[in-house]
Amino acid sequence: MRKEEEFSDWYSEIIEKAELSDKRYPIKGMNVWRPYGWSIMKLIDHAIREEFDATGHGEVNFPVLIPETEFQKEAEHVKGFEGEVFWVTHGGVNELDVRLVLRPTSETAMYPMFKIWVRSHADLPLKVYQIVPVFRYETKMTRSFMRVREIHFFESHTAHATFEDAEQQIREDLQINERLMRLLALPYLVSRRPDWDKFPGAHYSLGADTLLPSGRALQVATFHQYRDNFAKVYDVTYETEKGEHTYVHQTTDGMSERILGAILSIHGDEKGIVLPPAVAPVQAVVVPILEKGRQEEILLEAQRLFMELRERMRVKLDDRDVRPGDKYYYWEARGVPVRVELGPRDIAKQAVTVVRRDTGQKRELPREGLPDRLRSVLELMQIDMWDRAEKSLRENTFTITRLEDAKDGINRVGWCGTEECGKAISDRTGMNVLGTPFYPEEFDGACAICGKPTAQFVYAAKVY
Ligand SMILES: [Zn+2]
Repeated sequence: MRKEEEFSDWYSEIIEKAELSDKRYPIKGMNVWRPYGWSIMKLIDHAIREEFDATGHGEVNFPVLIPETEFQKEAEHVKGFEGEVFWVTHGGVNELDVRLVLRPTSETAMYPMFKIWVRSHADLPLKVYQIVPVFRYETKMTRSFMRVREIHFFESHTAHATFEDAEQQIREDLQINERLMRLLALPYLVSRRPDWDKFPGAHYSLGADTLLPSGRALQVATFHQYRDNFAKVYDVTYETEKGEHTYVHQTTDGMSERILGAILSIHGDEKGIVLPPAVAPVQAVVVPILEKGRQEEILLEAQRLFMELRERMRVKLDDRDVRPGDKYYYWEARGVPVRVELGPRDIAKQAVTVVRRDTGQKRELPREGLPDRLRSVLELMQIDMWDRAEKSLRENTFTITRLEDAKDGINRVGWCGTEECGKAISDRTGMNVLGTPFYPEEFDGACAICGKPTAQFVYAAKVY
């Protein structure tokens, strides 16, 4: 495990080296996405869109501004966000009659429209999502992708006829999440957040947390069951088949650019970032090793190879007039999964030299049928990245009986179920209580605070 300060410096450095984003923009926490960083995020967004489109969600795009009057309707929700919203108070030189809030999330923007869109049971379920910036006035130290004030955000919002239908939606969201996290090589734990820490206005909240090399947990996705809490406030009702009017039940699923931050921290190394092939803008780079007198021949062969590979993967040919070593350094810093070297010796043997970014493993592969062979290398790397991170998560999850034994990583701590003991676990360890495991795990112990025997435990960890 890296020390927090060491982690912090290293994290900034690999982002700069890969030219992902620039934090020198003159507003703290509002960073500029640079082309390479944005191209990774677009691939992640694409994977998210595919999942949500395939499960019957429609993509929408709501305005960024929400009138104060709508924002303030749900009391708990407002209380949860009041310290971190940006306000728009003027239009030109005129003070606005109704102040506008820059969305910190879109419940209060969407649900007045849901009220208009949902009329009868035939309109349900209503399933929409959007990928938009949201704004939160972060007061803690900001960090690229992980803690920013303008957040590249994903949110899905659904409305259902019954509580059970909404529960079914949460189960679908968890399945979507599993598929996405596999693509992103981000193993995670799902916890039911403690009641005192659920999303403002939710009936209950689930969080998916991954573990950073600093030993801190990072929330990568959240799922909220709203029941009819928001529907009552925004008067979202439908007419049942019997002609009665009743409230809808709602859910949301949220993710953000943090997932990119998680990939960088978990998989990066001293050479820079390492990208899972599924979301790497360049999956393979072809580097010709030019020998005096044979440049033309080697370049021609490299071009031929590039054209062949292009049919099967995202590939680049680096034919710049630069030393091969500098090219290796450049593409390694950018996390490109495989490098294909092609020199005179390779050509003579009708082979290429393939180097994997995650392990550094070097292998000679026959030139014949290379596109297929390289696809296999990429698939294997995708699996290996998940497996390594999953092993690390497992090895850094501890079961402790005394609070003094809490370690960096995730601690399973016996809990009797009372809010008082739950909060005491958090106070006395200086950690956050992530919640109880959503997928049941066996536990036989005692509450770490009051000593009462219990089969229940919470995950506790320092969080990012
Ligand atoms: Zn207790």
